[in-house]
Amino acid sequence: MKHLLSIFAGILLCAILPSVAADKYSIIPEPGRTELKPQATRTLKLLSDKAEASLGKDAYRLAVTPGGVHLASGGREGRLYGQATLRQLQDQLAAQPEGIPCGVIKDKPRYPWRGLMVDPARHFIPLADLKKFADLMAYYKFNKLHLHLTDNQGWRLPVPGYPRLESVASKRAETFGDGIPHGGMYTREELKELVAYCAERGIEVIPEIDVPGHNEALAAAYPEFFCFPKPDMKVRTVAGNSKELVCPQKPEVWKFYAAVFKELKDIFPSKIVHLGGDEAPTELWEKCPLCRQARARAGMRDEQEQMRAFFARMTALLAKNGQTPQFWYEGNAGIYHPGETVYAWRQDQARQSIDKTKKAGLNLIMASNEYCYLDFPQIQGQYNWGWMRTTTLRKCYELDPAFGKSPQETGHIRGVHAAAWAEHLPDLNHLLYRVYPRAMAIAEAGWSPMDVRSWDNFRRKVADHRAFVLKRFNYDLERTKENEPPFRWENKK
Ligand SMILES: [Zn+2]
Repeated sequence: MKHLLSIFAGILLCAILPSVAADKYSIIPEPGRTELKPQATRTLKLLSDKAEASLGKDAYRLAVTPGGVHLASGGREGRLYGQATLRQLQDQLAAQPEGIPCGVIKDKPRYPWRGLMVDPARHFIPLADLKKFADLMAYYKFNKLHLHLTDNQGWRLPVPGYPRLESVASKRAETFGDGIPHGGMYTREELKELVAYCAERGIEVIPEIDVPGHNEALAAAYPEFFCFPKPDMKVRTVAGNSKELVCPQKPEVWKFYAAVFKELKDIFPSKIVHLGGDEAPTELWEKCPLCRQARARAGMRDEQEQMRAFFARMTALLAKNGQTPQFWYEGNAGIYHPGETVYAWRQDQARQSIDKTKKAGLNLIMASNEYCYLDFPQIQGQYNWGWMRTTTLRKCYELDPAFGKSPQETGHIRGVHAAAWAEHLPDLNHLLYRVYPRAMAIAEAGWSPMDVRSWDNFRRKVADHRAFVLKRFNYDLERTKENEPPFRWENKK
């Protein structure tokens, strides 16, 4: 009798299924096209998984039927993205066992580049934490993980023949006066393991070696590489801009970077090396006797010309390994060459950067900091170090990488990139707290065409994803002013 009752209950449940099943998918980033059917399903068993080259390599089609799911994909990337969508649908079904709608999802990214930058230079991020970070990236279809490996506060890449990188440049005495030593260096094997882990998830790892500035950690280890060597230089313990530049006139500098680039080539299959190029105090080159002589010899007018020559030589050095550079875009610095790719990062300059880079023949990745710097506080009143602009989830969501401009004006935009600078993000907990859920908004900005995006729908989905992410990653996306992990250095300068 009990058995019969449960069958009866089952039949009853089936009959009412369409009316109780939520009538929307909760997929982030929003797919390009979704057709919903009146039926619902309670199984997402994969019934078929076939290649369909005509879709395009990063596109997929997912048909959700009452009996299960059919996946078709145009290439490896498309298949991974289809699987990512299926994963989210499975999480949605787990959260609403009454069923989810049947339908057909036809999807591909709006832009080929959807990246996140992490900053192990400021606070070292162990391999296991980078893997967790990559898992979440794959869940939201990010495809570029950018490692900011070097800066004033630390150097994280071992380079054979340069032992002081590890013994000196990878360590600092403290952070913002906390009295606690901080350090860390990846091994070659760890980085290779990360690369393989990310590759399985469709994520390319992009290393960054910032030149010629942002290099006080290097200056502490090898002061002789710099215009004005300071033998008592220490790895920087607070935030702020560098007051050191490597000296392009010293042969040992070029020998060093040749070794660095070779190491990158051996570790990272990516052909890209991000060279930074930002915030370089060129007045140091203006004053340096060797640099002055070199400018006079070459008939260069100023340090900007010297900067251009420096990056041309760096680019040639990379080219020997089949590598190409990327840069933080500094507008008029004149260090770029047509065909190169730059990141628009400076506040409120995105629109003009689109036009200027187009005119200069550059490719552009949108990383404008008022949308894309995810170390900034996300709720009014949260710790902002006295200067960071509050960047709400809604503000991030409002990013259209093309800023409403026409396809003719924006054909050079490669995608979006959010950065989590880590002067104030000491560990994975802080990093994830600030990056999410805003990275989900950036993911949608990079993936979804504008005509399927809506803040109200996104907000609904984010609420659903709190349960998905909690269950799948054991991580809570709830954000209130109060629930941020506490900072050791709050109220300290
Ligand atoms: Zn110099």
